[in-house]
Amino acid sequence: MTIPTIFVTQELTATFACESCGQSYTKDVAKFIMHKARVRLKYKCKCGHTSSVILERRRVFRKEVTLKGVLIQNQKNYPGVVTDLSRNGIQFKTQEKALIKVDHTAEVKFTLDNPNRSEIHRPIRVRKAFSEYSFGCEFEDTEHFDDLGKYFLFYF
Ligand SMILES: [Zn+2]
Repeated sequence: MTIPTIFVTQELTATFACESCGQSYTKDVAKFIMHKARVRLKYKCKCGHTSSVILERRRVFRKEVTLKGVLIQNQKNYPGVVTDLSRNGIQFKTQEKALIKVDHTAEVKFTLDNPNRSEIHRPIRVRKAFSEYSFGCEFEDTEHFDDLGKYFLFYF
């Protein structure tokens, strides 16, 4: 049996629907947002039926952004912009064609649009080349204790 996946809204709520009677409930799920592991919730409907769901949080933590930065691999700098930001990684668009190697490590530096204009510098791993200009990258470490961590809390 596959467990249905439900999505977290911008208001940090999620809507559950009973598989048995179809009654739906919207609940505050803010307390689960910071959980690192997969969140599986069980809830009981008025009709007595109990269901499980997986709470998908990725939508909340992925945001389209335009943050100037530079992608660095093999001591070469590729200026461009971070176009998508999440706790797990970024999408980076270079100004010019870039010879970025996929499945290799790299570094990214970019400037946040927070009041401090914080400079973020991270080791990353290039996961996917969408084109010669656009790259999907994962942070080597997805725990962020600096201004990037605060950015996820307050600007997302
Ligand atoms: Zn029900």
